[in-house]
Amino acid sequence: MTIFAKILAGEIPATFVYEDDHAVAFADVSPQAPVHLLVIPRKPMKSLHDAVAEDTKLLGHLMQVCRQVAAEAGLSESGYRIVTNIGKEGGQSVEHLHFHVLGGRDMTWPPG
Ligand code: AMP
Repeated sequence: MTIFAKILAGEIPATFVYEDDHAVAFADVSPQAPVHLLVIPRKPMKSLHDAVAEDTKLLGHLMQVCRQVAAEAGLSESGYRIVTNIGKEGGQSVEHLHFHVLGGRDMTWPPG
C-alpha cells in the first residue's frame, strides 16, 4: 500500500484542500515552492504511464482539479507549474499517480 493509498484510507493524516468522488488534493509534506499541492486520483494507478483509454475522462478531471486548486491558491495571474514524475529516472518516489502543483516563485528551466 502506498503512502497516498494510506492517506486516501484515512490511515495517514492529510488535510484535503479539495475532494470529490474521484480526486483529492492536499499539501506536499516537503514543499518545494511557497505553494506545493498534490492532486491524486482515488483510483490506484502507478503513474500516468499506466493510464489506459478508460482513464481518459479521469485524467481530464485531474487536470481541471489542478487548475482549480491553483486558482484557489492565488496562482491564476502569476502562473505555476504542473509536474508528474514517472518511474526511476523521472524522479518518482510514490507509486500512485499524482500531479504536483507548484507556484509562488519563479520556476527554472530545464528542471533538475
Ligand atoms: P514524487 O517524488 O513525484 O513521487 O512525489 C512524491 C511527493 O510526495 C514528494 O514531493 C513528497 O514530499 C510527497 N509526500 C510524501 N509523503 C507525503 C505525505 N505523507 N503527505 C504529503 N506529501 C507527501
